[in-house]
Amino acid sequence: MTENSNQNAEQTSETPAGQLTARIHSIETGGTVDGPGIRYLVFFQGCNFKCIYCHNRDTWDMKGGTLYTVETLMKEIITYAPFFRATGGGVTCSGGEASLQAKFIAELFRQVHAAGFNTCLDTNGYFHYSADQLALIGETDTFLLDIKAMDPAKHREITGFGNERVFEFARYLRDHGKKMWIRQVIIPSYTDDDENAHALGKFIVSLGDAVERVELLAYHELGKHKWKFFNDPYKLENIRPPKKELMDHLKGIIREYFKNTY
Ligand code: SF4
Repeated sequence: MTENSNQNAEQTSETPAGQLTARIHSIETGGTVDGPGIRYLVFFQGCNFKCIYCHNRDTWDMKGGTLYTVETLMKEIITYAPFFRATGGGVTCSGGEASLQAKFIAELFRQVHAAGFNTCLDTNGYFHYSADQLALIGETDTFLLDIKAMDPAKHREITGFGNERVFEFARYLRDHGKKMWIRQVIIPSYTDDDENAHALGKFIVSLGDAVERVELLAYHELGKHKWKFFNDPYKLENIRPPKKELMDHLKGIIREYFKNTY
């Protein structure tokens, strides 16, 4: 597979009645970490990356999940309106890689905005700027951008793909007045070195006011059993989650560049 072929294929389809449908892995309500206030979280099926630590291995299959229409989702979302109003919350779309179902989410977000609530997109940043993805960008208030590694070779080792397109996406958001939170999973032997932290810090500075928050997330083993289920070799078998001291150390480095780091 080349970097410009199948992994960009978008998946939104329509019912015979012309309603948009999307494949959804699961839904969580009442989340508080994936965007401001209380969130209604939709995990979309399908991913273009193959991260070696993925704790949502069961989202990869583009044909899995349950079909939803925008109307069905909105009916449910609207029942949480009092919580969104009280906390400044809204809807976050995640995955898998949600941008693969851009057309559906752009319409969902349009309706969420019409109802008066905010929208967040959790993404790996591997965009290719189709008309549907541009519409999705337009309807997204805050991007939760996962930068898997600063070193291109490490990024490729972790995801199967290079990171230049991800960096380009971050710069695109900056240049178009969009807001983002930057996230990175700290995986011992892959992203736990000072050099990576300094490179991330410098990159964040280059994005200026577009970055609102930075989060370093400790690699965890909670999704490991899913790899066994799929009979896939788990490359991080011998890697343990990073210690709190290491996480604090790396956060300290990033804070030298950007204070709002957690
Ligand atoms: S981008 Fe996210 S869902 Fe996709 S493989 Fe990586 S960690 Fe898993």
